[in-house]
Amino acid sequence: MINYTERIAILMQDVVSRTPALSFIDLRELLVFGRFGRSEAEGAFATCHCLTLPESEPGYYFWRDRSTGELTRRSEWFVTKTPVVRVGPTAIKYLISFVLPRFCEQTLGRSWKRELYGSVDPWVAKLDTIVHELYHIDPDAGGIRQLANADGTRARSHGPGFYEQVADMVRAYIATDPDPEVNDFLQWDFNGLQKRFGGVVATTFRNFPSFPQRYLEACTALPVDGDVKVEPLKPLNQPRLYTEDDLHIRQFTDTTTRRLTRKGQHRAA
Ligand SMILES: [Zn+2]
Repeated sequence: MINYTERIAILMQDVVSRTPALSFIDLRELLVFGRFGRSEAEGAFATCHCLTLPESEPGYYFWRDRSTGELTRRSEWFVTKTPVVRVGPTAIKYLISFVLPRFCEQTLGRSWKRELYGSVDPWVAKLDTIVHELYHIDPDAGGIRQLANADGTRARSHGPGFYEQVADMVRAYIATDPDPEVNDFLQWDFNGLQKRFGGVVATTFRNFPSFPQRYLEACTALPVDGDVKVEPLKPLNQPRLYTEDDLHIRQFTDTTTRRLTRKGQHRAA
């Protein structure tokens, strides 16, 4: 079976080593994982998740009476935190998730990206997505790349020129004549991958379909006014720390996923 996320990680290493604008990325601090998403459903192909965002200032939710405007309920104080993901001694700074099988079905023919590329192989749409997610990594290590508008104000994360810059990097990478062995897996759609490799597997987190996400943590030390009803926060339903023990390999099919365990492997659940 093909380990799709591993193949993407190897390709990313090649892209980063041949693309000056991305050469600051240390792929040891980046983890690629799979999420499930049907091909025919709408949604993202991939997402860059930043694990370096600092803890937020304390805050709370509140509810007001619609007619009087009076505060009726509030939540406990909380801060928003980022979980820690560690693989061996290395703290992971970014996660990039790929939605399978949807990502594998991407082609330029069905995409507005075609205008950016003209006549190139249809699977270049997938390479474009991979470079796009890498380009979200902020060279100043502050999170997701903030792009400035011409007047110096902050743009949304896809600022003017973002897609064109990605296409330029993809074209320049292809022009370096990379080893086809590194990227030829992108040419197959999901069905083609299953036929050729006998199945598709990917790295996932133990709490699949969940994965490390920002969470709320109560600040019980902060005072709360006496006469308002305070709603407790929902209990934390994900780990604060993920390690390599939280990484599983799952097989993905068109409709479902299942965890693979090695023969002879036995561990407490
Ligand atoms: Zn994006």
